[in-house]
Amino acid sequence: MNSVENEPRPTTTYEGTPLSPRECLHALQTPVRYIKGVGPMRAALLEGLGLKTVDDLLYHLPFRYEDRRELKKIHQATIGREDSFVGKLVALDKRYVPRIRRQILIGTLTDGTGTLSLVWFHPKPYITKRLHIDQNLLIHGKVDRGRGAEKKIVHPEFEPVEPGEEEEREKILPVYLKPGGIPTRMIRRWVNQALTTYWDFLPSFLPPVVAQRHHVTDLKRALIEIHQPNKEVDIVFLNQFRSTAHRSIIFDEFFYLQLGLALRRKHHSALTGHSLIAHQEGLTRRMRALTPFSLTNAQERVLGEIYRDMASSHPMQRLMQGDVGSGKTIVAWFAALRAIENGFQAVLLAPTELLAEQHFSYLKAFADELNITTGLLIGSLPASEKENLLVRIGKGEIAFVVGTHALIQEGVQVPRLGLGIIDEQHRFGVFQRMALKRLSTGRNSTAPSQAESDILLMSATPIPRSLAMVLYGDMEVSSLDEMPPGRTPTKTRLFNERERSVVYEIVREEVHKGHQAYVVYPLVEESEHLSLRDATGMAEEFSRVIFKDFCVGLLHGRMAADEREQVMRHFKKGELQILVATTVIEVGVDVPNATIIVVEHAERFGLSQLHQLRGRVGRGKDPSQCLLVQYGTNSREAITRLRVMEQVKDGFKIAEADLSLRGPGELLGTRQSGLPDFRLASLARDSQLLLDARQEALDWLAKDPSLTQIKSRALREILNYRWGGKLELGSIG
Ligand code: ADP
Ligand code: MG
Repeated sequence: MNSVENEPRPTTTYEGTPLSPRECLHALQTPVRYIKGVGPMRAALLEGLGLKTVDDLLYHLPFRYEDRRELKKIHQATIGREDSFVGKLVALDKRYVPRIRRQILIGTLTDGTGTLSLVWFHPKPYITKRLHIDQNLLIHGKVDRGRGAEKKIVHPEFEPVEPGEEEEREKILPVYLKPGGIPTRMIRRWVNQALTTYWDFLPSFLPPVVAQRHHVTDLKRALIEIHQPNKEVDIVFLNQFRSTAHRSIIFDEFFYLQLGLALRRKHHSALTGHSLIAHQEGLTRRMRALTPFSLTNAQERVLGEIYRDMASSHPMQRLMQGDVGSGKTIVAWFAALRAIENGFQAVLLAPTELLAEQHFSYLKAFADELNITTGLLIGSLPASEKENLLVRIGKGEIAFVVGTHALIQEGVQVPRLGLGIIDEQHRFGVFQRMALKRLSTGRNSTAPSQAESDILLMSATPIPRSLAMVLYGDMEVSSLDEMPPGRTPTKTRLFNERERSVVYEIVREEVHKGHQAYVVYPLVEESEHLSLRDATGMAEEFSRVIFKDFCVGLLHGRMAADEREQVMRHFKKGELQILVATTVIEVGVDVPNATIIVVEHAERFGLSQLHQLRGRVGRGKDPSQCLLVQYGTNSREAITRLRVMEQVKDGFKIAEADLSLRGPGELLGTRQSGLPDFRLASLARDSQLLLDARQEALDWLAKDPSLTQIKSRALREILNYRWGGKLELGSIG
C-alpha cells in the first residue's frame, strides 16, 4: 500500500550520507515539471501558484485527512456522515434538468445491501469519461437525503477498484488544497511520486540527538507520514496537526529559524561599537535632578539594561517594549543623554510629524535646561530652514535630533551618531532600521572609527513572549512591565448599539466638564457593509445634530498627512472637543485632557488594537472611560471576547488572548508584522515547541558557535538554504 515504505532503500544517515547535503538540497530545487505525470501545462499552473519545485510540492501539506480505513455497507449509510463505500455502478444517466437549468449526472451504486445515488452537477468531462456501467467503485463522501427514502452523495470522490482489492484501499487519505482546481487525486499522485523519486535526496534535517530528546522524527520520516499516513495512527491527532509527524515538521521549522536568528544576533554583537560610559558630573546625573517624578522600578531596570549594552564595546540592538503610557520616552531620553555626555549625537525617529513634534516639545524643555543643542527635522520644514539644520547636524553641532522619515532620507549625515532610537518601531521596516545605522557611515563621514552605533527600538504593541522570539530573536528585549503610579485605570464598558443614546449622553456629560472625547470607527467611507456607519457621515451628523453645541473634528487615513496633523494640532490645543476618527489615532498620540473614547463596531477590532485605542485616554490625572459599542446579533463568542476588555488592563495579557483567538497576523496587522511564513507552525498553538526548539538551537550554538565543526556541516547548509537570503546570513555561507 505504501510504495515508498515497502521498497528497500539506502538510508542517508546523518553523518555518513552518500550525498552531501548541498547536493540533496540542490536536487530538491528540481522544477515540478520533471515530476513524472506533471505535464508542461500543469507545471505552468503549479508554478504560477507558487509550487515551483519538488521542495514546494513536498511542503504542500494536507489540510485535513479523510478516514477511509473502514468501508461501510450501503445499508449503513447515515445521513450527514462522511463515509466510504464499495459497490457496483448499475445505472448511469446524464440529463438536463430544466428546473435548475443544469446538466446532471446520476449514478446508482449497489452492494447487495442497498442502493446509493451518486450525483454530479455540471459533470466535468474527465469525470464522465472515467465512469461506466458495471464498474466496481470505491466512493467517499457525505451522505445526503435524496428523494423519498433515497440516499445520495453529491460530488463523491471515487476510484475504480477490482473486486477483492478493497482491502488495500482502506487508508487515511490526505486532502490537499486544490491549487487552480487541480483534482486532489492528481496532487496526491504527484506528491507521492515526488516522495518516491526524491526520498533519497531529503537530507536528515534535525540532528538525531535533538530529535530524540523532543520525541520528534526526522523530517524525512515526518513528510512520508504526513502525506501517506499509516493506517494505525490516530486520525484525530492528524487532523489537529498534532501527530508526531506534524510536531516534527513544526519543530524543524522553529529550530532552523531560531538558529538563524541567534547567529545573526551573534554576528551583530561581535561587531565593534562605541563604549559609552557614565560620567561623574555628566548629563544623566544632572537630568536626575530635573526629572519631575521618580522612575518606576521597571524604568530603572530597563535603563540599567540599556546602559549595560551602551557601555559594552559592541553595538546595542535592543527593543524596549512597554504598554501605552508605561513611560518609554523618558527612558529613551536618559539613553540619549548617555550618548551625548560621551560626545556623540543621538537621534530619535518617530513615525509621524505629530509624534515627532510631541517628543520634541516634551524633551526640548529638558534639553534647554541642560544646554543641549536640539533640532526637529520633519518633511514640512521650509527648505532653507531644513538646509540650515542639515548643515549643522552634518557638522556635529546638534547633539539631539528628533525627526520623521525625512531624517533617514539620502543626504542626511549624522557624523557622530552614538545612539539611534526608533519609536513605534513596528511602523518602520527593517530597511529603515538599517538606513538609520548608516546615517553615520555615509560618504562624508568623519566618524572617529568604523564602529557601529547603538540602536534602541521602542514598541507599544506588547508582544507575547513566543511572538517576540520569532520577531526579535536577533535582538535583546526589555519590558517596561509596570505603570507609573497615580494613574486611575481606564474604566471599560461594553454597550449594544441599541444603547447608543446612553453612550452619547456619557460623552456629553464628560465634554461639559471640559474634557475631550474620541469616537473611533473602523472604516472611512460607507462600504458594501451597509450597516456600517462611517466616520465621515457620523462626523457630520454629530456636528449637525447630536453634539451640535460642541466643536467636532474628523480624522481619517485618506486625508493628506499635513491635513491630518493640522486636525490633531487643533485637538491637542483643545480647539476641538470631539474627534471622530478611524484607527489613524492609534499610535502614540498624547492628549491628557481627552478622557473618553468611544469605539464603534468594537466587534471588528482585535483586542490588542482596542487596547491601543484605549491607551489614547487615561493619560492625565482625571479618570477616563472607554466605551465599546458592539453591533448586530453577535455570537456569544464575540461578546465574550469583548468582555475581556472590561476585565483585563494589562496589554501583555490582552495580546496573549488575542494571539490565541486571532493569530499573529491579526495581532500585529498582517502588512506590517514582518513575520516569516511558516509552512505549518502556529505561534499560538505551538509555543512550547518554539521554546524547546529555541533552547536546542542555543545549546547547539553554545557548543559550536560558528557552525564550523563537522557535525554542523549539514545544519549550516540547510540553514543557508532555508534562511540564508531572508536573514542576510551571508557571513555563515
Ligand atoms: P509611552 O510609553 O506610551 O511612550 P510616555 O513616555 O509618553 O509613554 O509617558 C506617558 C506619560 O507618563 C508622560 O506624560 C510621562 O511624562 C509620564 N511618566 C513617565 N514616567 C513616569 C513616572 N515614572 N512617574 C510618573 N509619570 C511618568
Ligand atoms: Mg510613546
